[in-house]
Amino acid sequence: MSPNFYDMKHYPVSEPNIGKKELLYVQDAVKSGWVSSLGPYVTKFEESFAKFCGRTHGLSVSNGTHALHLALCALRIGPGDEVIVPNFTFVATANAVTYVGATPVFVDCDPKTWNMDPSDVEQSITKKTKAIMIVHLYGAPCDVDELLRIAKKHKIAVIEDAAEAHGATYKGRPCGSFGDISCFSFYGNKTITTGEGGMCVTNNKDLHHRMSLLRDHGMHASKKYWHLEVAYNYRITNLQAALGCAQLERMTSFIRTKNTNAHLYRKLLANCPGITVQDIPKNRTSNDWQFVILVHHHSVRDIVMEKLTAAGVGVRPTFYPMSELPPYVNHHSSQRSLAVSRNIGLRGICLPSSSTLKKSDIRSIAQIVTSVCASVLPSTKPTRKSSAA
Ligand SMILES: *Cc1c(COP(=O)(O)O)cnc(C)c1O
Repeated sequence: MSPNFYDMKHYPVSEPNIGKKELLYVQDAVKSGWVSSLGPYVTKFEESFAKFCGRTHGLSVSNGTHALHLALCALRIGPGDEVIVPNFTFVATANAVTYVGATPVFVDCDPKTWNMDPSDVEQSITKKTKAIMIVHLYGAPCDVDELLRIAKKHKIAVIEDAAEAHGATYKGRPCGSFGDISCFSFYGNKTITTGEGGMCVTNNKDLHHRMSLLRDHGMHASKKYWHLEVAYNYRITNLQAALGCAQLERMTSFIRTKNTNAHLYRKLLANCPGITVQDIPKNRTSNDWQFVILVHHHSVRDIVMEKLTAAGVGVRPTFYPMSELPPYVNHHSSQRSLAVSRNIGLRGICLPSSSTLKKSDIRSIAQIVTSVCASVLPSTKPTRKSSAA
C-alpha cells in the first residue's frame, strides 16, 4: 500500500445509490411490523417493476439466481435437456441450468458486442435443446431479433437473463420484455438494489402461477400447509421490497447518470493506448451498468489493475469464461473452440460505474486510466489473435 493511500480519493468500482426516499420507505415498512415476506411493498414492487418492463406479471424472489432457477423449473427443464448459455456471462446463468439437472451448452460471443453470437447458437442446437438463455452483458442488449428468430424456428423457449440490463432497450423495447420468462437481479452492485433480490416477469399467467407456487414451498393457494410438491422458499421481504420501490422510482435518473458517465468515458478514452470498449449497435441502448475496457493482451491485465488500484481507482476483472471455471472446464461443450470469449474474458477490466459518480470523477478516473495505460501497454507488443487457451 502506498504511503499516501489514505489521502488519495478512492473511487469504488461500484456502490449502491441509497437516499432519503429509501430510508423513508424502509422505515415505514419497519414501523408497520410487516418485516417478512407479506406486505404492501412486495405487491407494489412486483406490479410496478412488471409494468416498467411492459409485462403483465412480476414475481419477486430472493435473488437473481433464484429467478433463473424458478424460470427453468416453471418451463419444466430438467435432466437430459440442454440449455444454450453464453460462455461469457456471470456464473449464475450456467449454474441455474446445472441446478435443474440440465446441461448448459456454452456458445461463443461476438468480438465487438461481447454478447452471444447467434450463428454459434444456431449451430449448437440439438434434439435435446429446450431453451436459450439470452444475456445482455454489462447492460448492453444482445442480438434479440436474431436470437428470438432462432428460438421460434426450433420451437425452443427463451429465458432472458436481464440481471444486468434494467432499463436497457432494443429497438425501443425494454430488456425484460423478450423472454418467455425474463429474470432480474437486485444485488448490491446492480442498477437498482434491494440488498439481495430478484424478479421474474412474464406475460404468461400459467408460468407466473407455477413460479409463485414453487417460490412458496409448493403450497396450495387457498389450502394452508397443503404442499402439492417439493419446492422452495425464494421469497423477498417487505423490507427489501420497500427499498426496491424507492430505487425503482429513482431508476430512470440512475440510468441517465450512468449513460452520461459512460459517454464521457468513451470520449475521454477514445485515444487511450492499447484498449477497446464494448460496441453498442444502432437501435440498442445500454443502461451502462458497468463500463468495461479490454486491454490488448491478457498478460498485462493484472499489472494494469494493480496500478489503477494503487492510484485509487476501484477495479474488477470481467467474468472468466464459463469454459475456464473448475465446475465447467471438463464439460463437453467447453471442448468447443469458444475462441472469442476465451480471449475477451481474460482481457477485461470494469471501471467505476456507479450512479453516484460525478462528471468530475469520470474525468479524474479517465486521466489515471490513460496514464496507466500509456506506462504499461505500449511496452508490450500487441499480439494478434492471442489465445488464452
Ligand atoms: C447478477 C447476475 C445474476 C445473479 O443475480 P444474483 O442476484 O446475484 O443471484 C445472474 N445473471 C447475471 C448475468 C448477473 O449479472
